[in-house]
Amino acid sequence: MSEQQKSAPNQSPQDPAEALRQWLETYRDFGITEYYKSVSAVPASDVSGEQLKQLEELRLKEIGNCTRCKLHKTRKTIVFGEGNPAAELMLIGEAPGADEDDQGRPFVGRAGQLLMQMIKAIGFQRGDVFIANVLKCRPPQNRNPEPDEISECTPFLWKQIAIIQPKVIIALGTFSAQLVLNSKSTISSLRNRVYEMPFGKVVATYHPSFLLRSPQKKPEAWEDLKLVKRTLDEP
Ligand code: URA
Repeated sequence: MSEQQKSAPNQSPQDPAEALRQWLETYRDFGITEYYKSVSAVPASDVSGEQLKQLEELRLKEIGNCTRCKLHKTRKTIVFGEGNPAAELMLIGEAPGADEDDQGRPFVGRAGQLLMQMIKAIGFQRGDVFIANVLKCRPPQNRNPEPDEISECTPFLWKQIAIIQPKVIIALGTFSAQLVLNSKSTISSLRNRVYEMPFGKVVATYHPSFLLRSPQKKPEAWEDLKLVKRTLDEP
């Protein structure tokens, strides 16, 4: 069973009371008792123009209107990924769902809303990080990624990692963690550790779609996020 689930469009609450209610709910569910000061967004001048250029070349010239695997027949848009091209923190999910396929942007559905609350709790805004997926096209009915799709698509993810050079990668869920850590272990055995990989440090945690279905696991995800924060703060 895929970790994806059908998700509603990402609606940030306009009403401040509703926004506050959602925050209090998040803090309660994750068992958050710490406060992390906001990490200031990388100023535009510091964002490497070269990294942006390389990402755009990858998107437009190498990926283009990709037909390398069967997913091109059913996708609406290619979800390349988005965010700060010089991000210290990169998040890697599984594959676009229906909302992402419609909008061409990663994590814009309900799982995305939860993911944004998670990273805000360690002081980041969406624009501070780079968000990508194992697959750039939506599998029909959000089924699991298949091996041929993973092997065709992931060279682009490795190139994104090589361009961005994040200090820490959060691998969200089984598919992402198994790929990035080159492992066949379960997400529950991979999480809660820092892996020193040749391309940077990796922390694996539960996929936000799984957390929506299993909210009792949120405190474990919060332990993983604190580990990410501590790792980012290391010199
Ligand atoms: N789930 C993912 O893994 N990625 C997305 O972009 C959205 C939902």
